[in-house]
Parts: sequence; structure tokens; C-alpha cells
Amino acid sequence: MLQKARLIVSFIAYVFKRIGELAWESIENRYRQIQFASQPPLTDHGEMRNIVVVGASYAGYHAARVIASSLPPNSPYRVVIIEPHSHFHFTWVLPRFCVVEQEHKAFIPYGPYLKGAPEGRVRWVHERVARVDRDSVWLEKSHDQIPYAFLVIASGAGAAEGLPSRVAADTKAEGMALLKDMQRNIKGAQHLVVVGGGAAGVELAADAKQKYPEKHVTLVHSRKAVMHRFGPELQAAALKGLENLGVVTILQERSASGSIVEGQITLQSGKRLQCDFLVNCTGQSPSSSFMAGLAPEAILPTGTIRVRPTLQIQDEKLPNVYVCGDVAAVGIDNPNARSAMRQGAVVGLNVVRAATGGSPTKTYKPFWGEGVIKLTLGLDKSISHVSDGKTELWWQSKERNLDLMSALGWRHLGAKPFDDDDDESEK
Ligand SMILES: Cc1cc2nc3c(=O)[nH]c(=O)nc-3n(C[C@H](O)[C@H](O)[C@H](O)COP(=O)(O)OP(=O)(O)OC[C@H]3O[C@@H](n4cnc5c(N)ncnc54)[C@H](O)[C@@H]3O)c2cc1C
Repeated sequence: MLQKARLIVSFIAYVFKRIGELAWESIENRYRQIQFASQPPLTDHGEMRNIVVVGASYAGYHAARVIASSLPPNSPYRVVIIEPHSHFHFTWVLPRFCVVEQEHKAFIPYGPYLKGAPEGRVRWVHERVARVDRDSVWLEKSHDQIPYAFLVIASGAGAAEGLPSRVAADTKAEGMALLKDMQRNIKGAQHLVVVGGGAAGVELAADAKQKYPEKHVTLVHSRKAVMHRFGPELQAAALKGLENLGVVTILQERSASGSIVEGQITLQSGKRLQCDFLVNCTGQSPSSSFMAGLAPEAILPTGTIRVRPTLQIQDEKLPNVYVCGDVAAVGIDNPNARSAMRQGAVVGLNVVRAATGGSPTKTYKPFWGEGVIKLTLGLDKSISHVSDGKTELWWQSKERNLDLMSALGWRHLGAKPFDDDDDESEK
């Protein structure tokens, strides 16, 4: 009981500390703008040096914003964002929109989050980085070479199977088509099998069973408990939520091949399950292979990249290379968007300091409070949970928004919900 009380107090303290930090960042930013107001803007863009940001999701997009809005107007640096997606992929809502037909809300237009950066400060390149060397990044399709003075790696994680954890498409139209296919397949199945009992698998199985109660929905998970990376109280609550909806959960089992043969799949134990559609929710891995040529020793067997507390890569020969978000090895068990953004801010400020003649002194230390999770258990229920590794705190809520308050995600990134010029151009 005492431990739980301590957890509540330190979580509240964390929330206030974060509010304080954000207010301080905003004051610092305002102060910089006032200082910069007397400086003439750079007019000759010929000699611009590049701060290259690889990946524009929670970590990279935020780092780009901090850098673009904090550099002095006459700075000879510009931000080059290399990101293959045409839109920001809102990962949190993907399992829901695999079942519920509101897929357009998962793709947030890029751009407005960088509003306020001086003209010419930011350049977008919608491509994928294939490899990196000491001075340049090389692009996959065009084979173009882009030199850098500073490099920010924010390439996150990928999922081999794509949905429901990531969207394996670069344009919004292709991404929406993949989500619609998934909705159609789930709707058409009588025996749905979901493999992987992490958050994406639990949420998708629960949503599908609540939307289509007549279907047989089975969740297969290789561990002793669903949500195995979280505490036992959340594990038990998630299992109970699944059972209440009528999802059959099979633990300590794996699908043998992942393929459906004559309407069945075979598990590793030899047991067979009826199945006419299977959703694989396993296997997210950090996207770092393109760094293997530059810093092989910094890449851990898990694929994450070792960093110093300043989030510079753990390689003294590369002081101008920074890493943030899910691809950074910062010691977080459950990577999440809040810590990715906080790392993006640390990297952004350190790059600005280094680019203006100072030293990168901001540091990042993980805090358990950032791992707070809201797990949906069907279309109208959720459990919020936080843990410091010793004790857990969780509470249930009724959910009224079928789209999981997507509008907040859009507004947070400066976009008007659900207004997208791209929709007009595609008509
Ligand atoms: C289904 C699901 C639900 C989630 N729900 C929550 C939640 O409710 N709350 C929460 O806090 N977190 C949640 N998370 C976790 C959160 O989404 C991640 O922690 C976050 O997306 C990490 O952000 P990131 O910027 O590090 O990387 P990512 O989001 O993985 O993005 C990486 C970016 O880099 C780009 N990229 C990759 N390789 C290259 C390359 N070679 N060249 C150029 N660009 C490249 C990609 O296109 C992508 O845009 C959820 C995750 C999933 C999968």
C-alpha cells in the first residue's frame, strides 16, 4: 500500500516536473527568438550546411522542430529531413483501424508542426536512407548523396509483417488500402487467429471480438502471460478483459509456420486451430542496418544503437552523430512516444548548441513514468497502467471515442483534424 502511495506521489511529481520542463523550454525558445530578432536573416543559401534527420516520427519530427525553431536566423545550417512516408503514421490507432473503418485518421499531414521555422530552413526528402558514411548519407532509390555536418538517427523500429504495428506503405493512399484490406479480411473471417499477445495483439483481438461477437477469435501468445513486458497486475487484467469478451487465449504456444492449410493453422505443439484469417502481431525490430558501415560496434545484437547520455552515438570518432527514439539503446523496456519525443528534444538542443559553437550538454535519463500505457480492451473499455518496476498502478475507464481521440494527435502535430490537402489532390 505504502509503495503504491509512493508511486502515485512520484508520478504526480513527474507530471509537474514535465510541465515545468516544457514551460522552461518554451521560455528559452521565446528568449532565443527575442535575441535573434535583431539579427538579419541569411540571404545567401548557397553555402548552407546540412543537419540531416533520418526519420520523421515522434523522435525525429520533434528533433527537427526543436532545431529548426532554435537556430539563429543567420545560421548557415539547414535541416534536411529524410523520411519515406508522405504522412506521419499515427501508430497508436493502428490496431483499432484494422477493425474500425476510420483509416484516414491514421495519416497526419507533415508540415504544420514545423510552422514558424524561417523560410528555407527545412528541406524534405521523401526517400529512404540506404547507407551512411563519415560525411554523407546515401539514398536508396535515387542513389543521391546528401552531405551532413550533423546527423540525427531517428529511424525507430519496423515490423516485418507491417500491420497492425506499422504500415508497410509510403503514401497515404497505399496505407489506407492496406488498412481497408485488413478490415475486409477480419470482417470476412469466421475463425480469426491473432498471434502475439503484446499491446497490438491484445487490442486487435479484443476490438475484433467486440465488433463481431459471432466470430471465433483466438489469441496465441508464446509467453506465460499476455502483456509479458508489463507487471502481473496488468497481465491479469488484460487476460480477464479478453475472457469477458469471449476471446480464447492460448499461452506458451507459437504458430508453427504462420500459414493456413485447409482452413487450419498448426501450433508448435502440434495442436491445430481452425483459422480462415491470421494476423501476426509479433516481431518489431529497430531500423539500424543502414548504420552498419559507419558504426558497427555501436549496434547491439538487438539492433538498437548505443548512445552516451547526451544521445551522441557511442563512438568517440563520431561526435556529430546523434541517435534518438526507439532505435536508441537508452535502457527502456517498453519504448514509447513520450520518451522518443523527450529524446528528440535533447538531441535537438544539443545539435543547436554544437552548431552555434557550444558543447552538447543536455542529457537524457529514462523515467518509468514515461511508460504509462492506455490499453484498450474492446471498443469501449481501457486500462491505464504505470509501474516503476516494483509496484503497479492501474485503473479502468469507459471509452467514448471510437477513434481513440485521434483529433488530439492531429492537433498535437499542428494539423487541423481531419483536413488534408492530399485528399483533394487525389480526387
Ligand atoms: C500499435 C502501437 C501502438 C502504440 N501505442 C502507443 C501509445 O499509446 N503511447 C505511446 O507512448 N507509445 C505507443 N507506441 C509506441 C510508439 O509508437 C513508439 O515508441 C514511437 O513510434 C517511436 O517513435 P520513433 O520516432 O522512435 O520511431 P518510429 O515511430 O518507429 O518511426 C521511425 C521513422 O523513421 C523512418 N525510417 C526508418 N528507416 C528509415 C530510413 N532508412 N531512412 C529514412 N527514414 C527511415 C520511418 O519511415 C518512420 O517514419 C505504440 C506502438 C505501436 C506499434
